[in-house]
Amino acid sequence: MNIILLGPPGAGKGTQARKLVEDRNMVQLSTGDMLRAARTSGTEMGKRVAEVMDRGDLVTDDIVIGLIREQLESDKAPGGYIFDGFPRTLAQADALGRLLDEMGESIDRVIEMQVDDDALVARITARSTCANCGEVYNDITKPIPSDGKCSKCGASDFQRRADDNEESLRTRLLAYYKQTSPLIGYYYAKGNLVSVDGLGSMEDVAASIAKALD
Ligand code: ADP
Ligand code: ZN
Repeated sequence: MNIILLGPPGAGKGTQARKLVEDRNMVQLSTGDMLRAARTSGTEMGKRVAEVMDRGDLVTDDIVIGLIREQLESDKAPGGYIFDGFPRTLAQADALGRLLDEMGESIDRVIEMQVDDDALVARITARSTCANCGEVYNDITKPIPSDGKCSKCGASDFQRRADDNEESLRTRLLAYYKQTSPLIGYYYAKGNLVSVDGLGSMEDVAASIAKALD
């Protein structure tokens, strides 16, 4: 089964994708993670995208489609793929359809995670992640343990994303509404869309997604 997690920044796509990887042996393909890896590797492409990402704008379709194509070729997934943060434009959605078609695969479900805008701002400005394993923390709902060590891997280095500030978040939200939200109608028309309430606890949201997949 191949699925897309669709929703605004801060909707919890990454968190739920990681859970699906653990529970269902699926492979997570996050263009956000791929682009952040490209930045730290210091490649020409990485340098070019860094500024765009920090501002909160979308990276060009060619770059992200290229990254996804490479991953689909190198990372086979018997349990299926979770597309997290991709596609974000109609051109990306068409390209993904073609890439999967060439592999004899298709998208089975598109999970739209609905969260209201005030909650997104609150979530994102409180967010940090473990630099070692990527576990996500939140100053209010899931603070870093008092011993300063990651509950998952024990590392003690935490980071805030450069684009997790209020100004860049506004730009990301605008990009979502202008460029990505048309995908809701696109996948509804294709008959793949399931909408879930993304506001509950991590477990509640996971249960809604599980129900949508079975
Ligand atoms: P979030 O969903 O929290 O905004 P992501 O990690 O998915 O975070 O993406 C971070 C940034 O990476 C985006 O703001 C954008 O600049 C870039 N990016 C990620 N995926 C795509 C994509 N599919 N198309 C264009 N830009 C992307
Ligand atoms: Zn960790």
